[in-house]
Amino acid sequence: MLIVMSSRATPAQIAEVCATINHLGFEARPMPGGQRTAIGVVGNDRRIEDSAVRGLPGIQEIIHVSASYKQVSREWKADATVIELSNGTRVGGPEVVVMAGPCAVESETQVMHIAGYVAAAGATILRGGAFKPRTSPYAFQGLGVDGLKLLAAARDRFGLAIVTEALDPESAELCAQYADILQIGARNMQNFALLKHVGQLGKPVLLKRGMAATIKEWLLAAEYIVAEGNPNVMLCERGIRSFDDATRNVMDVAAIAMAKQLTHLPIIADPSHATGRRDLVVPVALASVAAGADGVIVETHHRPAEAMSDGPQALLPDDFDRMVAAIGPIARTVGRTFGRAEARESV
Ligand code: PEP
Ligand code: MN
Repeated sequence: MLIVMSSRATPAQIAEVCATINHLGFEARPMPGGQRTAIGVVGNDRRIEDSAVRGLPGIQEIIHVSASYKQVSREWKADATVIELSNGTRVGGPEVVVMAGPCAVESETQVMHIAGYVAAAGATILRGGAFKPRTSPYAFQGLGVDGLKLLAAARDRFGLAIVTEALDPESAELCAQYADILQIGARNMQNFALLKHVGQLGKPVLLKRGMAATIKEWLLAAEYIVAEGNPNVMLCERGIRSFDDATRNVMDVAAIAMAKQLTHLPIIADPSHATGRRDLVVPVALASVAAGADGVIVETHHRPAEAMSDGPQALLPDDFDRMVAAIGPIARTVGRTFGRAEARESV
């Protein structure tokens, strides 16, 4: 439930509404706005009988949020959430953002080389896994803390922000010390203990859609993080499982457009894990921007044949340049901006 107070409501009237809600056993969250205060009610998972509050003075409107996820819904907050990172990148604003880098951090030479070219080409966020969720226990599991240190060194050298995956509460604590964004991977989308944990760490989170998760389950997973007091969540569509094995997963482009309607959180597209094929990454990245994605996250490698994970889907530097060059016109067609200078002009 969302209670919109009148623009003339007094602080005492706002306090009385909050006290009444708390008395009913729910939590009142006042959200002061430019014109008026809205009071969000949390702690309920079904419709609240509103007769106890309806007659209180100062109330303009009571909105029953129909979705089971609340704080992440557009009904709760109409304006897009914009997440500002340490290097000035704003995710969820007018500008489309590009996150790029290797699947896994493998060595200093590798990460510095890749960070250098993605930064020069226009990426502002470097991706790279230090803790890798691998299907086989015998596959490369990542460099751990050493990988995080290499990412941090690349950030300092190239002015990039860092996104890296946390697998469990212990690695989340470590990632939070080095990274700007904590990635929760598809396999952990419904690891509720981990979601609550990252909700308390105070760092922005990139929440990937589980490979068999509905859009509603994905949004409820985001709600877990936001409900812990962390509003800075971005959702990532990375393809879902289907009967067709022609591509690694099936990119759900409609989910991007739909999620933009349902939630105020930024939506990022991952065409690399969605397709699993280098030749499909660029067209699917462009389709995602056309569908309304706030950014793309892609895997890149200068020597994909030697990559320790996901080589077949890694973009080569030339492919990456091609993708970045093509994003601008598509972004402008759908009313967005792309490129730092252009974004500054639009402010
Ligand atoms: C990754 O980003 O390298 C990754 C493992 O992604 P996902 O969780 O989408 O499979
Ligand atoms: Mn990968």
